[in-house]
Formats: sequence, C-alpha cells, structure tokens
Amino acid sequence: MAPAEPQYIRINARDNVAVVVNEGGLPAGTLFASGLELREDIPEAHKVALTHLAEGDAIVRYGEIIGIASRAITRGSWVHEGLMKLPEAPPLSSCPLATAPPPALAPLDGYAFQGYRNPDGTAGTRNILGISTTVQCVAPTVEHAVRRIRAEILPRYPHVDDVVAITHPYGCGVAIDAPGAIIPIRTLRNLALHPNFGGEVLVVSLGCEKLQPARLMAASELPILESEPSYAVLQNAQSGFGEIVANIMMLAEKKIARLNENRRVTCPASDLVVGLQCGGSDALSGVTANPAVGFAADLLVRAGATVMFSEVTEVRDAAHLLTARAATPEVARAFVREMAWYDDYLRQGGADRAANPTPGNKKGGLTNIVEKAMGSIAKAGSSALMAVAGPGERVTQKGLVFAATPASDFICGTLQLAASMNVHIFTTGRGTPYGLAMAPVIKVATNSGLARRWPDLIDIDAGRIATAEKTVEEVGWEIFLTVLDVASGKKKTWADHWGLHNDFALFNPGPVT
Ligand code: CA
Repeated sequence: MAPAEPQYIRINARDNVAVVVNEGGLPAGTLFASGLELREDIPEAHKVALTHLAEGDAIVRYGEIIGIASRAITRGSWVHEGLMKLPEAPPLSSCPLATAPPPALAPLDGYAFQGYRNPDGTAGTRNILGISTTVQCVAPTVEHAVRRIRAEILPRYPHVDDVVAITHPYGCGVAIDAPGAIIPIRTLRNLALHPNFGGEVLVVSLGCEKLQPARLMAASELPILESEPSYAVLQNAQSGFGEIVANIMMLAEKKIARLNENRRVTCPASDLVVGLQCGGSDALSGVTANPAVGFAADLLVRAGATVMFSEVTEVRDAAHLLTARAATPEVARAFVREMAWYDDYLRQGGADRAANPTPGNKKGGLTNIVEKAMGSIAKAGSSALMAVAGPGERVTQKGLVFAATPASDFICGTLQLAASMNVHIFTTGRGTPYGLAMAPVIKVATNSGLARRWPDLIDIDAGRIATAEKTVEEVGWEIFLTVLDVASGKKKTWADHWGLHNDFALFNPGPVT
C-alpha cells in the first residue's frame, strides 16, 4: 500500500537531492516531516532539492556527483534533466587499483539446490537439448525441426525440459577474420557448452558458410563419431527438405534419450552462476530492487556461488569505485581494459555513454547515465571484485565477477548465458516481460505499483522497501531463497510460466561485408 504520509528517500548523508516515493508523485505545497516543502509538483521516483543550489553546484546522490546545476535551484524544487549538466566520466588513467578491497565476507554454509550434475563439473538448473547453428541460413529449418521435436519426440522423454534452437544473424557475410569477430564466435561456442545442456552438443551447419563447425568449436568439443555425428550439414542432403529435417530429428533424439536419464541431485549453492541485470530502470531501482539484489548477491558470494554483473555503460561512471574494490591490481587493470575498449567502441560509432538513459528511464526519474550507474552498481553488493571476463567469455571464477557486456537487455542476457549463467535476476521499474529460454529469469520490481499492475509477470516486489513494509535485508533473503527454489525447478518464474523467451542477440563489434 502507498504510505499516507509524504515521503522521500535520501541514500547518503552527503546527498543534496532525494527521491519522492509516494505513488503518483506529490503536489506543490506538500510538507514533509523534515520541514521540507515542495515548490512544485514532483512525479513519483523523481528528485527534490533538499537545499538551495547555485548555478555550478554539484548535485549529489548516492554520495556521488550525478550532475552540475545549470542554473540556481530552490530548495523543494523538482531537480530534472533540464537543470543539470552531465559531469565528465571518471578518467580511466587515474582509477585506483585495488586500493580498498573489502575483506572476505563470512561464509554462509548449508544452502543447496537440486540441479543436474554435468560431466565437466558444472551444474544445470534445467535439462535442455540445445541445438546450435553456425549461420542464419539454417535458422528457419532448425526452428521447423524444433517444432516437430517438441510435438513428436519430447512427449516420450518426460525428464527433458525443452529443446532450444540457438539461432542468430551471424555466420556469413561478416568479416570473420576481423579482431571483433572473436566476440560473436566465442559467444556461440560457449552457448553450445552451456551447463543447462547437460554436456550434449548438436550443431547444424549449412555447408558453405564462413563460420564452419570446426571454427566454432574444437574437435574435442564436437566429436565426429561414425554412429552419431555432433553436427548436421544441410548441403550434404541428397533428397530434399524431408531428409534434412529427419536427420536433425534423428540426431536430436539420440541426445534427448541420454538427457532423459539425468535426474536432479543435491548441489551446493556454490554451483550457481547468477547473472544480474536491470532493464526499464527508474530512480527507485537504486533504492529498492538493486540494493535488495545486492544483499542477495552478497549472500550468494558468501555461499560460494558466482555472481556476475555486467552492462558496461551502466558501470562506466562508477569505474573508480569498482577498481578500488578489486581483489588485486590485475583484476582492476582488466576492468579498466574493458572500460577503455568500450569507450573506444562507442567513439568509433560517434557516440558516448550519454547514449544510455532511455526516454522511459528519464520518465522514471533517472536524469542521466551517472545517476543510472550509481543505482545500477548497487546490484553488485559489497564484496570484492574477484575477476573480469570479456564479452562472451566463459566465467569459471567464484565470487563477484564483472562480465563485460553492452547494457541492451537481450545482448547482455545472451552474453551472460555464454558466460555460463544458470539463473538470471532482472530488476525493472518501468516493466518488461523479458525472459530467456536457456535459464530462468527472476524479475524484481522496483515499485509496488508495477508489481500490482503485473502480478503475473513480476516475481518479487521490492517496492515494499520504499513503503517501509520490508527491509532491504528481508527482500534480499527472499530473492536468495527464490533463486534456490527456481534453480531447483520447485518454483516457476512468470516468464517460464507464459513461455516468454526473448531472441538470442549476439554482440558483433566487427564489420559486416
Ligand atoms: Ca539492461
């Protein structure tokens, strides 16, 4: 329920702005318990000036400068985009390297989930046959085969959850030897080896494409057995479409039969690889959902799991805070390297980090990328940064890991899957029905209005923190326990309930030919 009293949330004692949390916003003349009076109407999740600000003054939220006042702002006024300038991004050359790594958090023992143990030691949260593709040319054919496999084969193998075709626009008509090509290629390779695929690999190739199966995966990962090849080549077919589809279905059934022998076993929480993301954020993201996810991230780290955060443009303005938090100077330097690579990538495209915030973010009270970044990194909790992975690389380290990805929901989700994510936590303020086929997505709302409007899409309502019904710690524990239940298949996310699975979206920084 909305609080009866007018209420704002100030995050840090240094902050000279706070966020109005009442649903529907508050009108001019509203008097707060603190004595602050609103000079004008302020929408929900937007900022109010707590002090008089002169032109050129720093506007501080999260204890960090999120903007410079472009004119005088009276106490009690609405602080919005039109009144502030974007500060410069922290220079990468002077980022502190592992100067303040937090001490290791106390271990959290005794938490486990029911998962699928894989031959390579990883654990799956689903038992899925993945069918990889080398090129877009084969995508409709594979999707046709998948529809028939679901209808004709899967009903006979009740222990297999699904068949997923990894289709994409890459594979040919691209500069496959360009430096950037390594990213989409290793993404596709690592997707094929995902822990939810139970160690079974099936690749469908056209035959003449640039991305040949042997280029996608090492021979040892793609065994060519007489009795059962791990890949099908469409152009080898001698008698048309029927033969092509029958061949894919025959290979798929052999693998499905083996997957059907798998059973869930008790796996320690340390086998979890949890990916964090936000999409459709608002100014409450950094107050409610992201801090609660951050608390859950710390619980997961304490339990020995891997927790990944990503989205380069949404951490860029917090680079100096994250490099200080790195466990070693090497980790901090790897982080700086990923930031520098992305700065350069954006520059080549004639853009910079200011291309982030969407119109919806701004409507939700997020003025600029600095404010968005400060709220975004709350997801990463308080533990030391243990490792950094490039886009599409597989993550094997435990603890908090930065997996560099663009902030686009689908590209980030795809790259986190390639990094071997087996549970995804997604926070949203504006609302999105986002979901992934390969791993369950737990959606956390930043505000209760969204959770009430979309009770059958939002899994957890963190808006209860703004209304003081719950604490960050309580919602954090709820998220942590939900991760274990969802990983065990005991609880279904709403996205899985409805079968909402967004497309795979590769990150290809290389040229198209
Ligand atoms: Ca995102």
